Amino acid sequence: MVIDMSFRAHPSRRRRLALAATATLGAASLLTLAACSSSDDAGAKTTSGACPAAPVDVVVSVDQWGDLVSQLGGDCAQVSTVLASSSVDPHDYEPSPADAVKFTKAKLVVVNGADYDPWASKLAASSAKSAPVVDAGEVVGADDGANPHLWYSPDYVSKVADAVTQELETLAPDAKSYFEDQRTALTATLKPYTDLVAKLKSEAAGKTYGATEGVFDYMAQAVGLVDKTPEGFARAAANESDPSPADLKEFQTAIAAKQIDVLIYNTQTEGSIPEQVHQAAEKAGVPIVDVTETVAPGASSFEDWQVSQLTALAKALGVDA
Ligand SMILES: [Zn+2]
Repeated sequence: MVIDMSFRAHPSRRRRLALAATATLGAASLLTLAACSSSDDAGAKTTSGACPAAPVDVVVSVDQWGDLVSQLGGDCAQVSTVLASSSVDPHDYEPSPADAVKFTKAKLVVVNGADYDPWASKLAASSAKSAPVVDAGEVVGADDGANPHLWYSPDYVSKVADAVTQELETLAPDAKSYFEDQRTALTATLKPYTDLVAKLKSEAAGKTYGATEGVFDYMAQAVGLVDKTPEGFARAAANESDPSPADLKEFQTAIAAKQIDVLIYNTQTEGSIPEQVHQAAEKAGVPIVDVTETVAPGASSFEDWQVSQLTALAKALGVDA
């Protein structure tokens, strides 16, 4: 499947709002807020003594990457994830002054990039000037027009993990072998996930899917599924606008005719249109696989989240997993 480079995840209106919010954060307000920010670090993971060097303070923009970075850093990193709540839509996020304060302590910043979390890159540039930034989009070569849901690509996850490890080693050279071990351990931890991807690819490649939103597209591509989402519907969803009645009808007709083997449904997208697609699939007996944009509530880790979705996908496609 070819990613349509004309897709825009973020209408320019949203981007202007985010930039305006950042611009109001003057240096004076940052100083006054710093004093009362200590109680605001609920997302930070405090680590214990197994690290041979001083732990690196890391700020990660979104939880889709935050858990992976925590696993890579282990006891040698203190990771603070800005958006760690599934109730917040990263596409619409405007940072608070307290978020800016988190960046002032960062020695390393990890962002998704690809125009998904531009507020985080801005805060890194203004509040963590000396901290290197791992930008997943830059690491994998996905520009601002690409589908920004990069964490759904197993290949991208691996590349970004390598880039994070490399930066951690540069920042704390005394912990180099520790970070190497953490990277190896992550590969082992992710094995159930990579095994499922491989199994789906060998047994379900060529099956078709439709999606209420493009969040899962990289994974669908990785396992060889063919995207049958009507193009107009997909483009509207990527623009966070409503598809035309004709686009919706086309999707419903394809579902009713069972031209789609599975419906990928983002449970974090609200609205009557995704609901109508969901109902069409229920009525036609097309299996539905729920996915989420951010780490699912109740999932204990990135791999836990992904394995649970992939297991549901395997079941929907008749793959024994
Ligand atoms: Zn999204």
